[in-house]
Amino acid sequence: MPDQKHPKNILTTADGCPIADNQNSLTAGPRGPLLMQDVVLLEQMQAFNRERIPERVVHAKGSGALGTFTVTGDISRYTRAAFLNKIGKQTDVCARFSTVAGERGAADAERDVRGFALKFYTDEGNWDMVGNNTPVFFVRDPYKFQMFIHTQKRHPETNLRDLNMQWDFWSLSPESLHQVTILFSDRGIPASYRHMNGYGSHTYSLVNAAGERVWCKFHFKTLQGIKCMDDAHSAHTIAADRESHQRDLYESIKCGQFPKWRFCVQIMTEAEAEKFKYNPFDVTKIWPHREYPLIEVGILELNRNPENYFAEVEQASFSPSALVPGIGASPDRMLQARLMSYADAHRYRVGTNYQQLPVNKPRCPVMHYQRDGHMSVGQGGGLPNYEPNSFADAPKEAPEFREPGLPLGSDVVADRFNHRIGNDDYTQAGDLYRLMTEEQKSRLTAAMAGALMQVRPEIQQRQLCHLFRADGDYGARVARALGVSMEQHMVSGDGRAVAAK
Ligand code: NDP
Repeated sequence: MPDQKHPKNILTTADGCPIADNQNSLTAGPRGPLLMQDVVLLEQMQAFNRERIPERVVHAKGSGALGTFTVTGDISRYTRAAFLNKIGKQTDVCARFSTVAGERGAADAERDVRGFALKFYTDEGNWDMVGNNTPVFFVRDPYKFQMFIHTQKRHPETNLRDLNMQWDFWSLSPESLHQVTILFSDRGIPASYRHMNGYGSHTYSLVNAAGERVWCKFHFKTLQGIKCMDDAHSAHTIAADRESHQRDLYESIKCGQFPKWRFCVQIMTEAEAEKFKYNPFDVTKIWPHREYPLIEVGILELNRNPENYFAEVEQASFSPSALVPGIGASPDRMLQARLMSYADAHRYRVGTNYQQLPVNKPRCPVMHYQRDGHMSVGQGGGLPNYEPNSFADAPKEAPEFREPGLPLGSDVVADRFNHRIGNDDYTQAGDLYRLMTEEQKSRLTAAMAGALMQVRPEIQQRQLCHLFRADGDYGARVARALGVSMEQHMVSGDGRAVAAK
């Protein structure tokens, strides 16, 4: 008889063996206990117990989609990145958007920063742009990252999210004020993932074919327009639909309304960075558009829903360490830490060989001497697993991809460099406040006062000092909404109100 495979729609075990009865467990008699021999039942129960992988510690709740990036602007004078070297060139992309603080079951429409992570499957390896919908971040030193996230999660005793923890930390970390201002502004609750911008936030580097480096910031500007919700709209949305942003993204793509973003860069030369008025590698600060205008690079379009959420979104693993030739790191302290911590998180959460899963797998050849580990699909085949070796077909290093040297310019000293000394944490937060309309200022200050109302008075006072330092009107409006007397504050020489010591 010829070999015959069973038809596609036959129910089988995970070993591919047909299942005759999927309704009745195997018992000793009609009332009888189960038999160990019911291997189908055993397999189903055991697989079920293992369905969940650990959720991400941050950005646990997310939505994803697939799409295409098309180059529209030539930046080959800045970068040798092959996927950017020709107008019209297209690269497949996988995107994941998320909230930060909530667990996997959290509602989508909460006030929070949103994750904005992209994986570009380029011919020279995967480039991951792992950003947020805000151009800055709450802290600038990675020592404070874990601490900050603890304040956004549940209190160890009450198991509740806790505004005192949040504002205690923020009010003691003035570098957070810029991001806190964005968080409580209209943009703190995007109407959907389609209606928000994405930012690389950190400074990165670009290196061109001549080996010259510039510093760079990444921007993805929504072509759907910015749309936000106020607190009342958010509460109403959450009451009706906890999955509003997942639903919006999925339904839009399903009905052919493909969201698009304009990818732009800001460029700063190394010489400009040397004499820039503040540290251009400080993730709590932006580069002003007027001095560093946006340069268009291309259009990102999301045009395909994942067929399997778990495989293509939950297991999608993004890391700033996925850098292609022509795009590199910068001295930003937070970026340097993330270069390690993201890939490490995926090795714990998804597994040692997470890069071998289809959604994470590069579309170009992967050749290295790492081997084995949990769930390897046999990367490297029968090629040698050591180097140097004398085999012509074994992978070899490629010195042409070396990056230019970076003079670090300073000695390591016994005292670490205090990032809080000599840093202006107020001007840019104030600039943002001052560019808002009256209505936007009212909504920002009302939302902030609504949260601060629930925290201890000494924390309120400390935070009000920061607001006054950023902008007198900003501080005054929040103080008024809190019913706090403004006599405790005085006006500084330059006319701005500052809090009395
Ligand atoms: P510009 O006037 O050139 O740019 C202001 C930017 O602010 C625009 O990109 C605008 O985005 C954005 N914006 C408006 N409202 C909000 C909000 N509630 N939350 C976040 N962003 C908002 O000024 P500068 O470049 O000199 O920057 C001034 C301030 O603008 C900064 O201190 C910073 O807070 C904010 N900003 C600056 C960015 C930059 O990279 N320079 C990027 C984003 C914000 P849009 O064009 O989409 O309306």
